[in-house]
Amino acid sequence: MSAPDWVIVGAGFTGAVVAERIASGLGQDVLVIDRRTHIAGNAYDEPHESGCLIHRYGPHIFHTNSKPVWDYLSRFTAWRPYYHRVLGMVDGCAVPIPFNLNSVRALFPPRMADRLSEALISRYGFGKKVPILKLRQEADPDLRFLGTYIFQKVFEGYTLKQWSLRPDQLDPSVTARVPVHVSRDDRYFQDTYQAMPEEGYTALFRRLLDHPRISVRLGVDWKSLSAAMPHARIVYTGAIDEFFDYEYGALPYRSLRFEPMAVAPHRGLPVGTMNFPNEFDFTRITDQRHLSGTPDGQPVLIHEYPEAHMPGVNERYYPVPTEASTALLQPYLKRAEELKGRVFFAGRLGDYAYYNMDQACARALTLFHKQIAAALPMAAE
Ligand SMILES: Cc1cc2nc3c(=O)[nH]c(=O)nc-3n(C[C@H](O)[C@H](O)[C@H](O)COP(=O)(O)OP(=O)(O)OC[C@H]3O[C@@H](n4cnc5c(N)ncnc54)[C@H](O)[C@@H]3O)c2cc1C
Repeated sequence: MSAPDWVIVGAGFTGAVVAERIASGLGQDVLVIDRRTHIAGNAYDEPHESGCLIHRYGPHIFHTNSKPVWDYLSRFTAWRPYYHRVLGMVDGCAVPIPFNLNSVRALFPPRMADRLSEALISRYGFGKKVPILKLRQEADPDLRFLGTYIFQKVFEGYTLKQWSLRPDQLDPSVTARVPVHVSRDDRYFQDTYQAMPEEGYTALFRRLLDHPRISVRLGVDWKSLSAAMPHARIVYTGAIDEFFDYEYGALPYRSLRFEPMAVAPHRGLPVGTMNFPNEFDFTRITDQRHLSGTPDGQPVLIHEYPEAHMPGVNERYYPVPTEASTALLQPYLKRAEELKGRVFFAGRLGDYAYYNMDQACARALTLFHKQIAAALPMAAE
């Protein structure tokens, strides 16, 4: 490929989906670059020495209510149904997370558990999800007790470890989202579509990017290429503050360290993930064999340690949801607006937003249809 029509910076979900759409839908030439030496962004998976497929950047479970996203991705992979289950260690008991009626039954004496469950069902209805914040504000003392118990035993400690911030220092929308599920459904997600790519995410990405109009260059940073590409249109899925050389300061991120370890069969977990809100330095352990479809194979436990983000040393994982970071983002969004039509920012780093994989995919499809193909409506599929 000589001079590509488009350069896509980042080969994660956002970049790969936009690249596929431009190549297949518009018939234009696309160069995808990534500074990592592999495709698939944070969804990258690879075989562990034990043979189990593991996720290098943390456990990734696909779940969505979006049929268009499900149908689109199903063109590039077959799926293996998978329902993720999480247990949280609370007062020495491993109980279902998100907290539900089974968690209540496991933690409290039978008569008290019945009373709390009945209070939940009669106030909200069976099957409903209630933010713990709402429970803590209830007039009924049983519901208020339960809200405070869950806040203190499940949410507060985990939040401190995860963000190194107290819950009141985070954007209130974070606490508002933590639910209690008035149900006996122990699945972590309730989405219509829940599955893992049959051959893994990296194989899915190989198919997404397998198009004669797409070329991929890995181990290449945008900074080293930008001067040579003055006329290409760009979809930038790297960090927006880095693109503008941190002109207004660095946007804060939280990082993580993952430690995978194959263990003896008796040390495997009964479910995909175990959370530790109050003990140890790690937040959770994932037994990757559940996610990889080999539940009877050798367990591979991945311990997850939250860390401060240090540019150039570790990865950016989560945007820090505070009022200060939202304010810092604004001048960058303004600068991005000035480049509209030539540089398109998207993805978890380009938008500085937490996206699940399906949301990243939906964002990429919308960007393609509403902004990229809209300029050439007759050419798009
Ligand atoms: C620990 C963890 C667990 C998660 N679990 C789930 C889950 O279970 N289910 C779910 O749906 N979602 C999950 N997610 C979210 C998922 O990772 C994101 O939805 C997805 O990564 C978004 O894709 P993206 O393309 O926007 O970003 P990324 O996957 O991060 O891709 C961006 C790419 O751009 C590259 N890049 C950046 N800057 C440059 C540059 N200057 N030059 C060249 N390349 C550059 C990066 O190397 C990266 O590969 C999880 C996220 C984390 C952090």
